[in-house]
Amino acid sequence: MRAGDEEISVSSTSGSRPTSKDAVINLDHGDPTMYESFWKRMGHRGDITIAGWQGISYFSDVTNLCWFLEPEFDHEIRRLHRLVGNAVADGHFVVVGTGSTQLFQAALYALSPPDTPHPLSVVSAAPYYSSYPAVTDYLRSGLYRWAGDASAFKGNIYIELVCSPNNPDGSIREAVLKSENGTIIHDLAYYWPQYTPITHAEDHDIMLFTVSKTTGHAGSRLGWALVKDKEVAKRMIKFVELNSIGVSKDSQFRAAKILKAISDGYELPNPKNKYKLFDFGHLLMSVRWKRLREAVKVSGIFSLPEFQSSYCTFTGKRTETYPAFAWLKCEKEGVEDCENFLRSHKILSRNGKHFGAARKFVRISMLERDETFELFIERLSSLT
Ligand code: PMP
Repeated sequence: MRAGDEEISVSSTSGSRPTSKDAVINLDHGDPTMYESFWKRMGHRGDITIAGWQGISYFSDVTNLCWFLEPEFDHEIRRLHRLVGNAVADGHFVVVGTGSTQLFQAALYALSPPDTPHPLSVVSAAPYYSSYPAVTDYLRSGLYRWAGDASAFKGNIYIELVCSPNNPDGSIREAVLKSENGTIIHDLAYYWPQYTPITHAEDHDIMLFTVSKTTGHAGSRLGWALVKDKEVAKRMIKFVELNSIGVSKDSQFRAAKILKAISDGYELPNPKNKYKLFDFGHLLMSVRWKRLREAVKVSGIFSLPEFQSSYCTFTGKRTETYPAFAWLKCEKEGVEDCENFLRSHKILSRNGKHFGAARKFVRISMLERDETFELFIERLSSLT
């Protein structure tokens, strides 16, 4: 089974808890189930009730350019960006999508000239998010075509995808191509304080975000784009209209409440900081990264990227980077394919080759439930 870029093995831990010590551990996909425990702690703060008569219309707000965007969701998106300070939402149109996966395609559509004789080249610096090539090319569009690693690209008309912090390796990135005729899509799915210090508010032409990695609600399938240019926003909206005639209102009602609960957690009295999502996420990620680095040291056959700490404007402190994925390199002599090696120990990971990198690398999700993560650490420490 596949979900997004994610190959899902039903006999493994995906979507469930490990049933035994020697269960297959699936860390191939970035399923953010670690957030479940936070939302349980939140009690009813994230709950909603939708009456049977509610949200029947296709339309949400016909006075908004994005007519299928629920006003409450729009409001809470802008409020959250103001609170966190990670992106400038003022002066940008909000376009909602069925996951940022749909918005990525909407942006490709919007940025490609409709009358082009040749498909526009779509590039991203390796290692790039494994969905980019697959999603760009699966319909063999005449408008755009995957052209690989941006660092190796020759030409000055293109769309460059800049993912920062980057999936899979957690690096902070800027565009590598500098042509005036090129365009850029900034994928900021992981530019949130639990993963990385917020150093400044990003203010790009197209910025993509997803509920999946912000709050953990991947199953709601919601993303949003902040878009500066009205004509580009219009074309993205047209794409969503042609592709799915808008975006689930039920999901937007829920996501609005979820985002509200997060902002309230910071802006309203909050005993013992119990309801602060980013604090929860940051603490959990710090513990996990410490455990992972220890396990890697014990086994002695892997290496991990190192990150520098920075001053985080959101927390007012110097904080570390704890990416949602570990970009693990197998240093063991004679092992050329790290995915195969881990698979032989019943750990499923994503091969470096899908990210335009060597097979010695794999991407490991750091966002699974505690039981799965603990089992993974135990197994990794035992490998030699
Ligand atoms: N961009 C990046 C960099 C991602 O890692 C993901 C999720 N794996 C997405 C986009 C897609 O997010 P969504 O679930 O909103 O489609």
